[in-house]
Amino acid sequence: MAGIAIIGAGECGGRAALALRDLGYEGPVTLVGDEPHLPYERPPLSKDAMTGEAPAIKAIATDALFAERAIRHIHSVRAVAVDRAAHVVQLSDGSSLPYDKLLLATGSVPRQLPMLGLGSRCVYLRTFNDALAMRAHLSAGSRVAIIGGGFIGLELAASARKLGAEVIVIEAQPRILMRGVPAEIAGIIHKAHEAEGVSIRTGQGLAAIADDGKEVAIALADGQKIVADLAVIGIGAVPVTVLAAEAGLAIDNGIAVDERLRTADPDIFAAGDCCSFPLTVYGGRRVRLEAWRNAQEQGALAARNMLGADEAHAAVPWFWSDQYGLTLQIAGLSDEGKSIVRRDLDDGAFILFHLAQDGRLVAASGIGPGNAVARDIRLAEMLIAGRAKPAPEALGSQAVKLKSLLAA
Ligand SMILES: Cc1cc2nc3c(=O)[nH]c(=O)nc-3n(C[C@H](O)[C@H](O)[C@H](O)COP(=O)(O)OP(=O)(O)OC[C@H]3O[C@@H](n4cnc5c(N)ncnc54)[C@H](O)[C@@H]3O)c2cc1C
Repeated sequence: MAGIAIIGAGECGGRAALALRDLGYEGPVTLVGDEPHLPYERPPLSKDAMTGEAPAIKAIATDALFAERAIRHIHSVRAVAVDRAAHVVQLSDGSSLPYDKLLLATGSVPRQLPMLGLGSRCVYLRTFNDALAMRAHLSAGSRVAIIGGGFIGLELAASARKLGAEVIVIEAQPRILMRGVPAEIAGIIHKAHEAEGVSIRTGQGLAAIADDGKEVAIALADGQKIVADLAVIGIGAVPVTVLAAEAGLAIDNGIAVDERLRTADPDIFAAGDCCSFPLTVYGGRRVRLEAWRNAQEQGALAARNMLGADEAHAAVPWFWSDQYGLTLQIAGLSDEGKSIVRRDLDDGAFILFHLAQDGRLVAASGIGPGNAVARDIRLAEMLIAGRAKPAPEALGSQAVKLKSLLAA
């Protein structure tokens, strides 16, 4: 028996390996990762891990746990080719790994800024090693330019401010968080950053970058000049698909899988940031999610299906972000329909719902201190999963408990 091979020892691959054992699978399980570390959580890299003395890894398993569960973890080695006919993966150390079932959990990597002039002071954040390199240049008084007003850039802006750095965020779009975040929530986050002393320049294209290895000179399209000790580029992520593509598997904004996370090859599955899949709760619309919980859920689902469960993905997308004392949570896909405000920040938290044309609740977003929005978002998630069509007045009134809508 060749067993199950998992390529990519990140959130998804690591969880899938553990899930296989939880499910009672007794065959060989091999987890291959090109990073030198145990699988670890990436979310802290832009948050807590960045503000301490030095970033620390939050591993999702230990060597001892892998040994106890008979999971072979091969680190610092890259899978370079998949021979589908022979059911063998070629590894960068020259060895080959046979498989009965193969899971591709190769994640995503930062989108590269297609400009000349970048150098060692222009950095991206994806890995723990990236975080270490970045942290070395963050301290009180250091000048940090963040290119891209997305989640990672904004979380880093908050962390850099906490360390006393001077921070400028440059965003080409008319507002920060254009992708998937309602304007009202983005507005609250924008204000929070300004209140903490971050300068946000929206609607600003880049004209030129010059990095001499000591500082970075940035020319904006409108003629403004910014000089920084560090430029952090956070302009999105792209799925890692090369292995799948070279093996002849379909790519469609990620490795294309069905709702059971299967590729067209019945023995190859893909899950997590690297795959696109039909989202059942949204009528089978094909999406790719870059989210921690999705990576966990899909790792576990792929494990069940590789063992023959034949189970469709049914989860509602969910994402969170922490900036300063505020936590944002978004359930569902908020880019359609009518919006209804349930709570305002004056009530301790801001909660917004989105209804589709047919009245179905499709998304809920909330922001507030600490855990303030968690319960409402959790209940909304259940309403979304249940394809509920709650009355807009009920959603908008705090006198009506969300739990009662669920019962209805
Ligand atoms: C800084 C940061 C902050 C984040 N914060 C949040 C947050 O607040 N909330 C949230 O919901 N999500 C957050 N995320 C997103 C979340 O971490 C990801 O969605 C999740 O890590 C995806 O897991 P994955 O296993 O699919 O991919 P990854 O975690 O990227 O793991 C994939 C692994 O596969 C390896 N690999 C790729 N190709 C090969 C190959 N050929 N051979 C061997 N190994 C290979 C990669 O090096 C990597 O180690 C954050 C991400 C980052 C980077």
